[in-house]
Amino acid sequence: MNTKQHVNESTNNAASTALECPQCGKSAISTSIEPDKFIYGAGNSAVELMVELPVRHCNACGTHYVDSEAEDIKHEAVCRHLGVLPPSAIANIRKKHSLSRAAFAKITGLGEASLGRWEKGINIQNIGNDRFIRLLEDTRVMQQLQGVVMSTGSKPLQRKSNVLPFRSLEVTQEVLQRKARFTLRPVA
Ligand SMILES: [Zn+2]
Repeated sequence: MNTKQHVNESTNNAASTALECPQCGKSAISTSIEPDKFIYGAGNSAVELMVELPVRHCNACGTHYVDSEAEDIKHEAVCRHLGVLPPSAIANIRKKHSLSRAAFAKITGLGEASLGRWEKGINIQNIGNDRFIRLLEDTRVMQQLQGVVMSTGSKPLQRKSNVLPFRSLEVTQEVLQRKARFTLRPVA
């Protein structure tokens, strides 16, 4: 198992150095870092963000392209602009405590699926969650939350069978008439 993981890791590392051209499939790729800018947001809140992207050049067929590394850099620029942690920082905080996403989610009360989307850069956490995640870097905070989980289990998350979700009543003519008829009577 460990050996296999190790092999996968070195394969991934190799993949980032031995790139293949999406056009011709050859591995004759060189990379140059080039300044780029893009618009984030719309209307009045639109801003121009500056980035430096790794641009790949295929020496075999002459194709220029950017890949997921450029996407990650742009995503991090957006996070910096919004003042929130980039995906890698969230994953690093979780990994600092050697916890799986499921275990981290159970202790912190964050949604496991949301956590996955933040770590993969699919969604960006809102400010409240961002500030909360920052506090989770502190081992004492995690220990404190772990204590809460151990003392309460997952009970607060489960609705008791005798508690019904709040219903909003549709105000109809009939409801208004019933309301008009309603009077409090003293108990004999
Ligand atoms: Zn090529």
